Amino acid sequence: MAAPKRFFVQDIGEEVVLSGEEFRHASQVLRLKTGDEVTLLDGSGAEYSAVIAACSKREMLLNVLNKTVSDKEPETEVTLLFGALKGDKSELVVQKAVELGVFRVGIFLSRFCSVSFGENKLERLERVAREAAKQCLRARVPEITLYPDLDSALSSAQTCKNKLFACEFLKTGEGDFTSLEGATALVVGSEGGFSREEFERAKELGFTGVSLGKRILRAETASIALLSVAMHALGEWR
Ligand code: SAH
Repeated sequence: MAAPKRFFVQDIGEEVVLSGEEFRHASQVLRLKTGDEVTLLDGSGAEYSAVIAACSKREMLLNVLNKTVSDKEPETEVTLLFGALKGDKSELVVQKAVELGVFRVGIFLSRFCSVSFGENKLERLERVAREAAKQCLRARVPEITLYPDLDSALSSAQTCKNKLFACEFLKTGEGDFTSLEGATALVVGSEGGFSREEFERAKELGFTGVSLGKRILRAETASIALLSVAMHALGEWR
């Protein structure tokens, strides 16, 4: 039998009402009905198994059966900060970052990226993050923040123990991060890359420049690769 479908809701007591977008997904897309078992998540790291007790046109009533603690959340808080990408590439990076176990994602604009944040950008990215979290069995949806510039994104990560800045013009091998420990921030540029001034500013704020090897990776590849390697270096793949 397939694993129970997963839904994020805000407050979980003995009974839960599923409404809005999560209800529409459960009822219209997945066609769940009374008696079906589901997993509810409140973003705290807990998982609740529940059964659908009643279903109307606008909502579902669920009876909560039991609570367990998810073993799918990473132990380390890793923040990925990346420059806004063209088309739907930012969505791609958010989806992959959630799967890889990111704690928080920040997307920044810079003078080297020709993208602007449209009206519903954040909403769309949050939806992508939620769906990715469900699909990979996570118990919380990483927070997504949009920053108007690189400086505010960098400043948001000041309390991280490790601060790595992927810089395409560094020599191969620069910035060793084969083993890491503690909260980590990773910064990757947009298609336009970083300038020397931006790298200098990042260093002032405590970031270490890292090279991702001999080849110049596309921005989306760089984010996914750096996050993967950092997760491994943090012991999250053990
Ligand atoms: N347009 C730039 C490349 C930008 S690549 C150029 O032609 O030089 C986008 C981002 O991916 C970079 O800002 C950097 O953060 C990251 N990146 C890609 N390849 C990298 C590498 N070999 N080392 C470190 N960072 C890299």
